[in-house]
Amino acid sequence: RVLYCNAAGCQSSGAAEVAKALEDAIVSQRLKEKVDLCAVGCMRFCGRGCLVDVNGKLYENVRPEDAYLMILALQNSQVNPTAPEGDYNHPFFALQMPVVLENSGKIDPEKIEDYIAVGGYQQLYHVLHEMTPEEVVKEITISGLRGRGGGGYPTGLKWATVAKMPNEQKYVVCNADEGDPGAFMDRSVLESDPHRIIEGMAIAAYAVGANEGYIYVRAEYPLAIARLQKAIQQAKRKDLLGTQIFDSLFDFKVEIRVGAGAFVCGEETALIASIEGKRGNPTPRPPYPAQSGLWGSPTLINNVETFASVVPIIRQGGTWYSSIGTATSKGTKVFALTGKVQNTGLIEVPMGTTIRQIVMEMGGGVTDNAQVKAVQTGGPSGGCIPFELFDTPVDYESLRELGTMMGSGGMIVIDEDTNMVGLARFYMEFCRGETCGKCIPCRTGTVQLYQMLTKILNGEATEKDLQALRHLSEMVKATSLCGLGQTAPNPVLSTLKYFENEYQELLKV
Ligand code: SF4
Repeated sequence: RVLYCNAAGCQSSGAAEVAKALEDAIVSQRLKEKVDLCAVGCMRFCGRGCLVDVNGKLYENVRPEDAYLMILALQNSQVNPTAPEGDYNHPFFALQMPVVLENSGKIDPEKIEDYIAVGGYQQLYHVLHEMTPEEVVKEITISGLRGRGGGGYPTGLKWATVAKMPNEQKYVVCNADEGDPGAFMDRSVLESDPHRIIEGMAIAAYAVGANEGYIYVRAEYPLAIARLQKAIQQAKRKDLLGTQIFDSLFDFKVEIRVGAGAFVCGEETALIASIEGKRGNPTPRPPYPAQSGLWGSPTLINNVETFASVVPIIRQGGTWYSSIGTATSKGTKVFALTGKVQNTGLIEVPMGTTIRQIVMEMGGGVTDNAQVKAVQTGGPSGGCIPFELFDTPVDYESLRELGTMMGSGGMIVIDEDTNMVGLARFYMEFCRGETCGKCIPCRTGTVQLYQMLTKILNGEATEKDLQALRHLSEMVKATSLCGLGQTAPNPVLSTLKYFENEYQELLKV
């Protein structure tokens, strides 16, 4: 088998041309009957695309002109292909534990037959025919899975809350509005394994008593949307697995809602408003969506990675899942490793893996022989972790103690040449542009914080301005209505905590 990555990363590096050249080489060498050329999802080492796997041998940075020799080498072991050979034993791969990403880079995301061939929809069948909704919720609770969208709320508790609501009409919503700069985990999962999300949502719907679902995905993810649409159409077949999975006891409809790309729509109440056709503004909680969400009905909202974790939990059991990770953070976590790091790509590691293992071993440190300075987790809502604290294990509590957060999984590596005040201003500029403007602390606070950071960067600020920056950051954090405003000052506060010297150096004397 010849597999080529056909996710957005490799597509932008010319996957279509590489695929065409591979196809031509197969035809010209009369191997059409023997070689199966297969487009697959993300093969994870995104920084080295285009990626091609020939009978288990990985090739990186493949160009169309490499194709002929790669195919020729299939028949003649003396032939040395020109494309650089990759290594699945490289720490980038070897330290990973693919659970959510188990099918990524292995199956064609546009063929339901490929998904079924690796056991797809079997867990839905199992749940519908052999488990009660209560048993499903219990299994998810035992697993210890926590929401992978950033907050880390216990998934089983959320499911149980919706399940207990007496309403006849309930909804399941997949939050695919990933919008942090540097984050591409959810996009990759959607592009690589869309049926996994549909199956996870259908299991959730059965467990909580819902029969309608929405996938809210931003318009900037056209490939993910196209593959989801195709997957939904394919999953409507009633004869999956040679039987009727969706029998008369359970009829689940899923629709896609395409968002315009506002960061605030990742917030649950804003997302609900947007699906309802209103302006995507957050509203105060309670009531929580689990009690009163879409059109006033109980609504279960989980993000892409959370739903993608459901199938393996049902297949291998909640106890198995909870045996992975730390005491309070169970299972695995997908990260988009990017920034000034040598090895850019998608990784999935057990919770508790240290930042050092991720950045230095898997990521290979920073580029251009520079020194690592820090890593930013949680995007504009998170904070930086300085190099001295790289032995911190990745789990919700440890990251929170450091003043940052897990977030949805963006991990941006920062080198010694990056000014941390400039970095804080970059994130504040992002939040300033993304605030919905509903509440004053966030609407005006993000603008003022941006102006204060600019003043510092211009060398026009004094110690008093630095105190005001700290004070206003704390105020915006404490008084904003939703998560966007409550976390927007985090990059400022964490850079002040660990790199105050860089602020001091810029002050007027
Ligand atoms: Fe809107 Fe910001 Fe207030 Fe959230 S905190 S409601 S994004 S203005």
